Amino acid sequence: MINEIFYSIQGEGFLIGTPALFIRFQGCNLRCVWCDEKSALDFDKIAKSFEDTMEDIENMLSSYNPNLIVLTGGEPTLNDEFLKVFNFFKSLNKTIQIETNATKLQEDIYKAFTTYPNTYITISPKYISNYFIDPKFLAFDKNIELKIVVDENLNEDILKRDYIKPFIDKKLLILQPLTSKYGVEFLDKAIRLANEFNARVIPQAHKLLGLK
Ligand code: SF4
Repeated sequence: MINEIFYSIQGEGFLIGTPALFIRFQGCNLRCVWCDEKSALDFDKIAKSFEDTMEDIENMLSSYNPNLIVLTGGEPTLNDEFLKVFNFFKSLNKTIQIETNATKLQEDIYKAFTTYPNTYITISPKYISNYFIDPKFLAFDKNIELKIVVDENLNEDILKRDYIKPFIDKKLLILQPLTSKYGVEFLDKAIRLANEFNARVIPQAHKLLGLK
């Protein structure tokens, strides 16, 4: 089920600034305290099916013709309709970015990612799942980035974990200072950690620009 569809720029990560059509899936298996998409967390909330959103999607495709499609959530990869949506945009040869909390990569979705070269994966492990990353994500060595929110919980010991190291070595680590109602927080900490771990500090540009 789909929570919302909108056109904006990608405000996060290495694709920052890229115009994109966003498909937000309904439902997430985590409950981060600072989650800014609380309406998308419950799997059983009434939301629209992919078929019901098709007219809106086609209108946006013909109005904006975006090259980049962002599948986000919630946790998109746990949604029953994920592959249907992925395959639709694959048939249009779009670049498909998936924003995932990386707790579980199901086998059929893993295969879909590995067989479509225009897949771009943003893994964003969370404190509430002890920054766990499903090891299947470690098989990807390109078109992937690791984005971690810098808040009071992130520390050096977490960034020194073995499974983080390949991302640091390939310069694929992004540290995203928390943006809250108080503004951009933990910026000094993010800069210090970025210097130590060869990362980039990238804030949520869409929020700073007042965009969705
Ligand atoms: S993983 Fe993402 S969508 Fe799920 S609760 Fe955390 S911030 Fe919200």
